[in-house]
Amino acid sequence: MNIHEYQAKELLQKYGVAVPKGIAAMSDDEAVKAAQQLPGPLWVVKAQIHAGGRGAGRFKNDPNGKGGVRLCKSVDEVKAAANAMLNQVLITKQTSPEGKQVQRLYVTDGVNISKEYYCSVVLDRASSRVTFIVSTEGGMDIEEVAHSHPEKITKVAIDPATGFSGFHGRKLAAALGFAGDANKNALKFFASLYKAFIDLDASIVEINPLILTDKNEVLALDAKMNFDDNALFRQPGVAALRDPSEENEKEQEAHAHELSYVAMDGNIGCMVNGAGLAMATMDIIKLYGGEPANFLDVGGGADKARVTAAFKIILSDPKVKGVLVNIFGGIMKCDIIAEGIIAAAKEVKLSVPLVVRLEGTNVEKGKEILANSGLPILAANNLADAAEKVVKATKDAMSKAA
Ligand code: GDP
Ligand code: MN
Repeated sequence: MNIHEYQAKELLQKYGVAVPKGIAAMSDDEAVKAAQQLPGPLWVVKAQIHAGGRGAGRFKNDPNGKGGVRLCKSVDEVKAAANAMLNQVLITKQTSPEGKQVQRLYVTDGVNISKEYYCSVVLDRASSRVTFIVSTEGGMDIEEVAHSHPEKITKVAIDPATGFSGFHGRKLAAALGFAGDANKNALKFFASLYKAFIDLDASIVEINPLILTDKNEVLALDAKMNFDDNALFRQPGVAALRDPSEENEKEQEAHAHELSYVAMDGNIGCMVNGAGLAMATMDIIKLYGGEPANFLDVGGGADKARVTAAFKIILSDPKVKGVLVNIFGGIMKCDIIAEGIIAAAKEVKLSVPLVVRLEGTNVEKGKEILANSGLPILAANNLADAAEKVVKATKDAMSKAA
């Protein structure tokens, strides 16, 4: 789960991570009130959307104008910036090409930046350790830095048994060249950031930029936080920060049915059990020249109701011109799954080609049920066969329609 910058900063601040003062605003009046409560003489009005790159982004209604992070020198300028951004669609490198509508703003105290740095905390799956990534090249695309200047990136992994220690902080601060008061502030910053990451069951905390001010303060100027969905049950405070308007409608529907669904741009809908198998299915569709329309993991215990819900979600995407069902019957037997697929296909009046690959317990019985269903289901014998068939069937269906 994602949250907004202002929410992330409010959480981090509780752990002692220093951030510039700021107040969220839902209207231009609220933005003015927020600005009046901040000291000035510089304010920053920041669009709150679940995507970065806002500063360099552009508004759909004003492609040659300013972006979603605006420095203001007066309360009047704050009001004008708020007016220009609210309810408008902001397009950034991290949004889809359609962009995102701005419904919330964050008005912050403008700070004097001496230097911008990069700092993130992630779970490095290769080493199974929570890992800090820092760089002196802040405020820009970190992937680009990693590509062209890998030597400018320092990683520090934390042993989960012993946790964060003074030497981790010193290593990070040294990598960024901090000394004196800046060093002292940086040590507190890193230790607090680690505690927040662990306590809140975060999966990513990205501070880009982390800044050094003209007063040697070390602040999070921007903050992005992602959380482990599987831990949300024990993080009610975090779960309450969910902003449904930022989430795709189909993703919300999937969430309600305990399905993991991520919308993509292609035209082949996928229904798979198991996240790994779902990834492999998307890969092989691409290998055979197709484009997946979604990632969808129905989970190990998928029953008829879940399969039906999954079908409905997949087919509610108008881009979908073919569907691939790839299920391994382990906990659920193949015959039960086959019955679920047939019932669901009938209920949603399936009108696009459907390729089904079943494997596992009672697979013969499952295939027989599909074959005798009277539905135009294409049975596949293995993953490659399934991908080839669905890519072909989808292309045929598209050219017939055209
Ligand atoms: P992003 O574009 O979505 O990553 O938004 P950021 O919060 O990172 O802001 C983008 C850029 O705006 C930063 O890298 C800074 O250069 C600039 N910026 C943001 N807040 C301030 C501020 O308080 N003072 C100054 N001088 N610049 C700021
Ligand atoms: Mn940023």
